[in-house]
Amino acid sequence: MNAHASFSTTYFAPAMRQRQWAEGSRQVVRCRRVIDETHDVKTFVLSAASGHMFSFSAGQYLVVHLTIDGTRVTRSYSVSSPPTRPLDLHITVKRMKGGLVSNWLHD
Ligand SMILES: Cc1cc2nc3c(=O)[nH]c(=O)nc-3n(C[C@H](O)[C@H](O)[C@H](O)COP(=O)(O)OP(=O)(O)OC[C@H]3O[C@@H](n4cnc5c(N)ncnc54)[C@H](O)[C@@H]3O)c2cc1C
Repeated sequence: MNAHASFSTTYFAPAMRQRQWAEGSRQVVRCRRVIDETHDVKTFVLSAASGHMFSFSAGQYLVVHLTIDGTRVTRSYSVSSPPTRPLDLHITVKRMKGGLVSNWLHD
């Protein structure tokens, strides 16, 4: 799965800026792994296609932009991995009955 995503906000030390995802910018993220948490909850392990590192604080969320069947859709997902792991970023998504994006991600 490839998706464009942007952070709500990011905080990072200026010296690290070049290698980190700039605030408000969009990047392609790739899903590297899917973890089944329960029958209707999955965790998606994402990394930036550019190799940029993630920098975030607890409580931040990712805005995911997808094109599904030709329709552009946007959804927000809280980051479920700790800020101490900058190389990948986890989102944990619950399948919602009749929901477009959660079911597309799960299936
Ligand atoms: C800041 C933030 C963080 C979030 N973090 C998470 C997270 O960590 N994990 C998570 O799982 N979710 C999270 N969400 C929710 C997530 O963004 C999505 O809203 C969720 O996944 C449902 O999206 P969907 O496309 O599957 O459902 P949608 O397609 O948006 O549908 C939602 C519901 O509305 C119903 N519906 C859709 N269209 C119609 C219609 N025309 N008439 C009647 N009913 C309709 C659907 O059946 C479904 O029950 C977060 C939201 C926000 C704002």
